[in-house]
Amino acid sequence: MNSMTDTLRSMIDEADALLIGAGGGVTSAAMDEKALISGVLSPWASKYGFSDPYRGMFAPFEDAAEFWGYISTLANAVCFEGRDEYGVYSALRFLTEGKDTFVITANTDGMLVRNGFDPKCVFESYGNMSYLQCAGSHSNEITFGEDVLKCLAASVRDGRADASLVPLCPECKGAMVPWVRSSGFFAECGKFCTEYERYDAFLRSHSLKRMLLLELGAGMETAGVIKMNFRRLCDELPNAFYCSVNIMGEETGQDLQGKSLIIRGDLRELGE
Ligand SMILES: [Zn+2]
Repeated sequence: MNSMTDTLRSMIDEADALLIGAGGGVTSAAMDEKALISGVLSPWASKYGFSDPYRGMFAPFEDAAEFWGYISTLANAVCFEGRDEYGVYSALRFLTEGKDTFVITANTDGMLVRNGFDPKCVFESYGNMSYLQCAGSHSNEITFGEDVLKCLAASVRDGRADASLVPLCPECKGAMVPWVRSSGFFAECGKFCTEYERYDAFLRSHSLKRMLLLELGAGMETAGVIKMNFRRLCDELPNAFYCSVNIMGEETGQDLQGKSLIIRGDLRELGE
């Protein structure tokens, strides 16, 4: 046990309900992303000069074969073979055991559910890159892409997947993309709507309780669903308390005086 774990444990103990907002910092703490960038992702990271595996998804790839070479390699390394190397997800699960908990996340790696969080209590608001959707806006359908992505990843040579394996929309035969919220069309499919409804129901049924809004490793890119959303909720809900844990510099919670705690720290400590 360390001080961050102690602090979070006592806040969780005092709360009646726990809403976690899990950002990219949780997976960055759980996995060695630098090893990914210098390892399996290095052909694309060095060519396009990125150091964040998820931002790499939006690199200006030459064509579909190179795009799917990267996406499938990333999905394989994170969604299918990625491990909670530093025990961060298992520590979080342990901390939340027995507590009425819901998690909203902007992470698309599926790590929460794969590491034991109940899928009925997780809202993947930015999608999940192991699913595919049509890039066009005619359909809100998504398909689970594990087989396709594994085949693509196995076919990669010199940074390019086998072009004959590149997935096409079964309806319009147009391009497909991973089911990840970006500037383009994002399919608000049945999975998305069901998870949103559960999240909304959790908020409504706990609105007067002592709810801990625990923001973990979330940045400004996803502020709409986590950071600003949590601060607004804290302001609106009379008995809510907001706690943010982030390794980066962080503005203070001045607007939430008496109802917030900002911890600057490395979530990797949770697994120690
Ligand atoms: Zn289509």
